Amino acid sequence: MALKDVKGIGPRALILLSKMGITSVEDLVTHYPFRYDVLVRGNLQEAQDEDHIIIDGKVESAPILMRFKAGLNKMNFRLVTSSGIVGVSIFNRAFLKRQLLVGTGVTVIGKYDKKKNVITASEIKMEPLSSKAKIEPVYHLTNGLTQKQMSTFINMSLLMYGKEIPDYIPQELMEKYQFVNKRTALNIVHNPPSEEKLKAAMIRLKYEELFAFMFKINYLKKRNKQKNSGLKREIPRDKINAFIEKLPFSLTADQKASLDEILNDLESEERMNRLLQGDVGSGKTILSFLAMYANHLSGYQSALMAPTEILATQHFHNMRTFFKDTNIQIELLTGSLSKRAKQEIYKGLKDGSIDIVIGTHALIQEEVEYANLGLVITDEQHRFGVNQRANLENKGRKPDTLYMSATPIPRTYALTIYGDMDISTIKTRPAGRKKIQTIIKKNSEIKDVLALMLEELKKGHQIYVIAPLIEESENSDLTTVCQLKDQMHLAFGTHFQIDIIHGKMRSEAKELIMQEFLQKKIQILISTTVIEVGVDVPNATMMIIFDANRFGLSTLHQLRGRVGRSDLSSTCILISDSDTKRLSIMESCEDGFLISEEDFKLRGHGDLFGTKQSGDMTFKIANLKQDYKILLQAKKDSQAYLTDKKNEDDLLKKELIGSIQNG
Ligand code: ADP
Ligand code: MG
Repeated sequence: MALKDVKGIGPRALILLSKMGITSVEDLVTHYPFRYDVLVRGNLQEAQDEDHIIIDGKVESAPILMRFKAGLNKMNFRLVTSSGIVGVSIFNRAFLKRQLLVGTGVTVIGKYDKKKNVITASEIKMEPLSSKAKIEPVYHLTNGLTQKQMSTFINMSLLMYGKEIPDYIPQELMEKYQFVNKRTALNIVHNPPSEEKLKAAMIRLKYEELFAFMFKINYLKKRNKQKNSGLKREIPRDKINAFIEKLPFSLTADQKASLDEILNDLESEERMNRLLQGDVGSGKTILSFLAMYANHLSGYQSALMAPTEILATQHFHNMRTFFKDTNIQIELLTGSLSKRAKQEIYKGLKDGSIDIVIGTHALIQEEVEYANLGLVITDEQHRFGVNQRANLENKGRKPDTLYMSATPIPRTYALTIYGDMDISTIKTRPAGRKKIQTIIKKNSEIKDVLALMLEELKKGHQIYVIAPLIEESENSDLTTVCQLKDQMHLAFGTHFQIDIIHGKMRSEAKELIMQEFLQKKIQILISTTVIEVGVDVPNATMMIIFDANRFGLSTLHQLRGRVGRSDLSSTCILISDSDTKRLSIMESCEDGFLISEEDFKLRGHGDLFGTKQSGDMTFKIANLKQDYKILLQAKKDSQAYLTDKKNEDDLLKKELIGSIQNG
């Protein structure tokens, strides 16, 4: 089922699709519309300017064809409809001319220009449409692809490979809910015949996605439950306490309590399966270091996995600094290491000469073998898929596992999804932290913002500036990193160092910039949200976010969490001309849990068909909030299903859980 075998998808399209993360037929057919335009049967009198309408009538004048250079052509004719006469133009359909004879009945779909009384048609159908309304899927695209092409690619894939697309809903449940089969459901979602059928098909696909997800979770839970399967070890607490004594700060009460729970788990012969949650800046990282230290002292290797290279590298440097007086071997393993460097690390992990490895998901590549992995920690857990989680767990025979998360999802959802875990919570942030002052500014108030920045820079502090995009793109007027770079250079370039960082840069370049920022060689760092997770530069005291309305509240909260990491007072400025009511929650609230609740309440409202949600749990079609009921049902069903070992094997055979072996 390779994408390149789909009729109509050439080399250029392959590249464009892969740019969008679409690399397989399955990716393509589950590239769901992010929106549907409902075209209502038009009435010229009632239609507003710029309305998309669908209207039928008879051709009143013979079409006039104009040809332009580069193969472009345009055709104009008049159409008599029951609500009046209207002009129609359509581009590049010269071939329709012969059919559009005067008196022919046609259906025209397009955008209505009320002043000129002209419809610019996107489609002309030679027969009257039967249904009253037409529902048009709208897809996310990339430059160089059109809606039409996307739709053609998807439909061709469905036609050629529709039968082979795996369906994860077991037969008995299909029958119970009277679901249509997967291929039909996909067909409907991409070519909706009616709102009713569309809704049913969406529910079916959402259910499948959530069922598969809950199956994985429940499967992991079941596996973890097998008692006495953990490592029993002695932890020399005196050594750990001595180490804590020497830290530049003393642990908060919550940190101490959480550490205690973690160390108890390590000692117990039951396998640890713990979630350490705490708001941004609450100090989770040091606990992960201490846990790995304890694990090391008891004779085992540890792995710490972070979602980005920046974060992994930062943890690596921090840990090395904290442990510089010991002889613990700590190494960094990321995708961008040279092949040789990687081999070197693989070797060290296999022969046991490396004690602690920190990295990205390079840690869970097949080549990586461990001598005696005893503890696996994932930072920013919500960023990882369940598959990745399972793979890393599998690397050691029975490693203890600790997940860290700033809990971007509200408690009720967390309980459903992480219900299998023990939970430690850090509620209070380290003493001495000041409230981060949060201010909303309009684009027209940029002068004030620059003045505030200058004040901060003069104090020797550093600033993050965030934009939603890297470079300008044709169909968007959002602020970009490149624009801001110029703007900031004009304002501050003579006295301060300004630089940029974003996801498209090579990792070495990113790493270098982060190091320079940490060493205060750069004062203003302009970035996309790559900076969002976990980055820790205590001297940065101001966070400025352009087009703040483009981000979810939880993301804003995470971004804001990059400042306020020392006893200096910090400011976060949100720049937006709209959506200020939602954003004002940020001004009054600094509690990540509450903010995520609000975010959930607000996201995706009023949008009947809102499917795609950029968010922290990345589902393709399901939406945790809107589809919570389906989630609960899927949870129940998957649990019941799992009680039969044969069922479990069936689903595992479908490779639902990637490369988990039974263990
Ligand atoms: P997060 O929980 O968001 O991962 P970090 O672990 O990055 O937060 O901690 C934020 C900062 O607070 C770090 O610079 C860390 O060294 C520091 N820190 C952690 N614990 C304490 C403490 N008890 N007192 C003071 N500073 C602390
Ligand atoms: Mg962190």
